Amino acid sequence: MTPKIARYLAEQQPATPCLVVDVDHVAARYAALSDALPLAHIYYAVKANPAPQILERLVSLGSSFDAASIGEIRQCVAAGATPDRISFGNTVKKVSSIREAFALGIDLFVFDSVEELYKLADHAPGARVFCRLAVENAGADWPLSRKFGTTLKHAHELMLMARDLGLDPYGLSFHVGSQQTQTDAYEAAIARVAMLHTDLKNDGIDVRMVNLGGGFPVRYNSDVPDIDDFGLAIGQAMTRHFGNDLPQMLVEPGRYLVAEAGVVSTEVVLVSRRGGKETDPRWVYLDIGRFSGLAETEGEAIRYTFRTDHDGEPTGETIVAGPSCDGVDIMYEKRRVELPLALKSGERIELLTTGAYVSTYCSTGFNGFAPLSEHYI
Ligand SMILES: *Cc1c(COP(=O)(O)O)cnc(C)c1O
Repeated sequence: MTPKIARYLAEQQPATPCLVVDVDHVAARYAALSDALPLAHIYYAVKANPAPQILERLVSLGSSFDAASIGEIRQCVAAGATPDRISFGNTVKKVSSIREAFALGIDLFVFDSVEELYKLADHAPGARVFCRLAVENAGADWPLSRKFGTTLKHAHELMLMARDLGLDPYGLSFHVGSQQTQTDAYEAAIARVAMLHTDLKNDGIDVRMVNLGGGFPVRYNSDVPDIDDFGLAIGQAMTRHFGNDLPQMLVEPGRYLVAEAGVVSTEVVLVSRRGGKETDPRWVYLDIGRFSGLAETEGEAIRYTFRTDHDGEPTGETIVAGPSCDGVDIMYEKRRVELPLALKSGERIELLTTGAYVSTYCSTGFNGFAPLSEHYI
């Protein structure tokens, strides 16, 4: 938690549940990533946190944007991003969205299938397009490989088709999975892209851009490699495989830029052992849950760190759940959380590293619970 957030929470005591984001920290992360990957253009993955305060700050720092929908594109434009700095990075797009984006001047679109290519040829004629490859997502806590990307072989066919359809077969992309904790995931993916780059060159297609996606990890409750380690691994792999023929590099960080800038403040609603015995499991119910922002606790994949006023005191195994009347609204049960035994209802506790994939994963009023409020400071 940054000192600015700690001070804000202490002085303002904003109503819970709320998310407090230190926008200066986002700027610091942007600088660290630029230093680690000086040759890469940064396209912030808007879905991680689309707050205007974040988008505006990133615009002022010179960032570009990876948008997944026409709604995100409009948010980027409203924050001052020019169309040449926006990539329409979802392989699944409505025709009406493609048309609107193209009319706005956006000229960079992803695809991973024949049908999407036809849609782009019809509704964004002549646009620069890039093909997404499916790559290994091992090492990622939040994988994406099942839903997106195609094979090397089909990507080759699609890139030739893109040219024949009058589009500009501009680049190739991949995503190694979110919260990717292994630097060699990027190296393996770059090797695949480089093979296709060479094959396409033999067919007269010059791939000028490689989009390395996002995935850069943050510290939840275990250590992860430093961003400089990723920068080094990526730089070395690019040089090894592309030599002097280095294409333009794009990265699409989401989590890395915003997660550590955010803290959720929540109230303990109930602490109980429902069988009445000391040996019964201890449950802590918070006023935030799976439906009010903590969607990434699905499968207990992302494990947030809790900060309480009793830190350092004796703890016990705890099941942590949300406030709603839904039986799946449980964050951590299989792997329990060590929380202080002194914790009582009415107390506030904080969930650290919650600036990414929390605010907009919030339902609008399930079970009558108001959405998470947000404070950007
Ligand atoms: C979600 C997403 C990202 C951001 O991923 P992070 O792991 O948050 O960095 C980048 N690119 C695409 C295409 C995405 O879908």
